[in-house]
Amino acid sequence: MDILDGFRIVLVEPQNPINLGTVIRAMKNMGLRRLRLVNPAAMDLDKTQVSAHRTEDVLSQMEIYSSLDDALSDVHVSYGFSARHRTRTWASLEMEHAIGLCTAEVAQGARVALVFGREQSGLTNDELMRCQYRVHISTSEYTSLNLAQAVLLACYSVHRHVAGIGDAIVAPDRVSCDNHAPKTRRATQDEQTRLLKCIHETLIEVGFYKAATKSTAMHRLQNIFQRADLHDDEIRLLMGMFGEIGNYARLIDRGIRPEKIRPVDKYLDFDRGAIEEKKLQCTETGEMSIRPTSDRDNKSA
Ligand code: SAH
Repeated sequence: MDILDGFRIVLVEPQNPINLGTVIRAMKNMGLRRLRLVNPAAMDLDKTQVSAHRTEDVLSQMEIYSSLDDALSDVHVSYGFSARHRTRTWASLEMEHAIGLCTAEVAQGARVALVFGREQSGLTNDELMRCQYRVHISTSEYTSLNLAQAVLLACYSVHRHVAGIGDAIVAPDRVSCDNHAPKTRRATQDEQTRLLKCIHETLIEVGFYKAATKSTAMHRLQNIFQRADLHDDEIRLLMGMFGEIGNYARLIDRGIRPEKIRPVDKYLDFDRGAIEEKKLQCTETGEMSIRPTSDRDNKSA
């Protein structure tokens, strides 16, 4: 597979058809082909094509999504580009570093998204939180580049790294010291989002949010995930653990005594993936998967 096919350029709510054409042209020049648009303004393809001639291959593969989550669901890691310095402690990388890192990840088989915001207002904090990394392109004190210029710089950097010209710029330690179990694969963004949702729901069940605000807690957790480089078996384990904690809290709420609740054997089985289906169903339907010792115990409790 061509390494450049591992990259997706994602534009969130692009407004201007000429900008879109210039983005497509920039991608074509640098050899990137996969463009995803999230809720674009009404398309005027004539205007777009003014600046995007001979780019039919990129245009024909362009995909449109109704949410950023959908656009990122099958990627493994996403990089959100932002002109602004935020007040939160975002894990923010300079672009050259970020592109060096993600090129090395793509070379190892990951699908990576480079996410860009609206011309007028950029990406919201919530959208940036969907991305594992925040990326800043170094500028003068006037930090806001035109959307297509920002995409061009990013694609140029990808082109240089892929061509090997930029090798010296970064040596991504994280990629070279992989300590994951064999036969596992890197978690997709969709799986990570489902895990965050599962943890969030459990924390509500157990009343955790008395002590911390929801968005701060979720933001920090996401930073932890990002450093952890989670794999599918680890996602299953954590979903299993938090799913059970939530179920336990619900049983206690229903007045079932803790000593009547017995852990389920499948804990011991998590390495073999036995709990995967059950846990995924659990978070989606809210169904309980932990059982009291018997129905009789349940009634008598
Ligand atoms: N006025 C907006 C900027 C929008 S520019 C704001 O202040 O946020 C459109 C998009 O281009 C941004 O959302 C971002 O993805 C990208 N971009 C522009 N300048 C950038 C910079 N210096 N670093 C990283 N991304 C940048």
